[in-house]
Amino acid sequence: MQLIDSHCHLDADEFDLDRDAVLSRAQAAGVGMQIVPAVTAASWPKLKQTCAAASGLHPAYGLHPMFLSEHRPEHLAQLREWVEREAPVAIGECGLDFFVEGLDADSQRHYFQGQLELAREFQLPLVVHARRAVDEVIQRIRRTGRLRGVVHSFSGSPEQARQLWDQGFLIGLGGPLTYPRANRLRTLVTQMPLEFLLLETDAPDQPDAGIRGQRNEPARLLDIAQTVAELRGQPIEEVAAQTTANARRLFAL
Ligand SMILES: [Zn+2]
Repeated sequence: MQLIDSHCHLDADEFDLDRDAVLSRAQAAGVGMQIVPAVTAASWPKLKQTCAAASGLHPAYGLHPMFLSEHRPEHLAQLREWVEREAPVAIGECGLDFFVEGLDADSQRHYFQGQLELAREFQLPLVVHARRAVDEVIQRIRRTGRLRGVVHSFSGSPEQARQLWDQGFLIGLGGPLTYPRANRLRTLVTQMPLEFLLLETDAPDQPDAGIRGQRNEPARLLDIAQTVAELRGQPIEEVAAQTTANARRLFAL
């Protein structure tokens, strides 16, 4: 059984002391590939180095909305150069976050729109972060046109999920799904077509219910796959095969 962690910040400092061990545990759990999205321009060189040092790690380059204070107008032009030179599997992590206070909305929109257009130009999928902003993300995807990608750690309604599928986007689900009180997410994953689902850990963040409060890591993806299988009443092998095929197709792995 092969799993792909479609969203894991393996370049994060939290993994500096034991990254090799973390990767070994992921391999042992069947998580042989990971998409590693960027957060700031300053993070790109370390991300590149991290992905080059191990097999199965695929970088995405972008400017994450939660790190707005670190972005500068020239970073969009620099991103264009990086994408052209490095040929990443995706643009991201990018998006809109209207939940965290103090992030200027218009400035977020500027960087997000710039990355949407870059993805269209280079025909690359997007890794999108959308918190309290799913409707506007859908609008911008639709208005920009000819895009595809994933809205990671999806937290919207079934109707919003459907609108995203119609625009060629998948939804990424991970740790939050494993909490018994996450009724809306658990209902969604029970009823949605599996062909639109990607599995993710978002490690080191968003630990699942089994490691509440601890550092998350990609090996935990197996537990997330197990939760999806139980909720759907479907063998885990089928969940793994379909979601892995989805990730391979989206990111051209
Ligand atoms: Zn992330």
